[in-house]
Amino acid sequence: MSTGFALFQHAEILYSQGKVDETFEAYQRCIKKVLKNELLTAKLPHAVPNQVPQEFLGYAWMNFAGFFLDPNFNYTQDTAPEAYKLLHSFCTSSGRDHSRFRGTQGQILLKAMQIVAGLTLGLLAWDKSDRATAAKRYQEALDIAATHPPFNQILPASKHLDLFVATQVQQVKDNLEILTQKDDDNAQLLRAVGFGGGQLRKEVLNLPQMRRTATGEFVVEKTITSATDACAHCGSRAAKLRRCTCRRVAYCNTECQKLNWKTHKMACQAGR
Ligand SMILES: [Zn+2]
Ligand SMILES: [Zn+2]
Repeated sequence: MSTGFALFQHAEILYSQGKVDETFEAYQRCIKKVLKNELLTAKLPHAVPNQVPQEFLGYAWMNFAGFFLDPNFNYTQDTAPEAYKLLHSFCTSSGRDHSRFRGTQGQILLKAMQIVAGLTLGLLAWDKSDRATAAKRYQEALDIAATHPPFNQILPASKHLDLFVATQVQQVKDNLEILTQKDDDNAQLLRAVGFGGGQLRKEVLNLPQMRRTATGEFVVEKTITSATDACAHCGSRAAKLRRCTCRRVAYCNTECQKLNWKTHKMACQAGR
């Protein structure tokens, strides 16, 4: 039986031979093997550049996730369901048991893998023009990053796992900001033409949009889905605000909800 590290080395050889599918397979076998019964936080036996993780599992995970993001490969939930399942098992809302990640180092590595999974799943959802799911995955990744400051900000001294993850987190922040801004623009556009809407996540808007696909082509989408909720009181947007029990409005917090109650009361009770 090969060790995880032997499988990893095998994957690298396959990649150097240009065998893409086989490499992708080998990374998955390697990751599953380590997750099942090897030391999760083991380091690579050789030096690596500052911008990549030293942990061998972290390095393999980075390469594995990278396959989904490379537009030359076309790996998606449909074309690679087993690989997608592995990626999705590190989505924070997957409910999967990760109790083998023990101790401080284990927990940090788990967070890193969850953040990478969140970004990758977000981008995959985005490619399917599921903006709302993309925003949700991004938000989950940011929530994890907020619990470990070295992941949340790139510092001059950052390196390896911290630098790699902080770079990913920066990309998540940028992507989420673009989504949020776009939702705001759409909502304003709708108001300008005399329609309401675009205030809630997953709301489908009748707004044709040009969209660039993963392969770089431009397509026209007839509708667009809101990725964020807007607070019914103050208008702030986020990937997930708390919804009123009627589900038709959302708020930042109970404060905003209380302040909006007089305005919303009638509509709220009428909707039950
Ligand atoms: Zn608010
Ligand atoms: Zn309500």
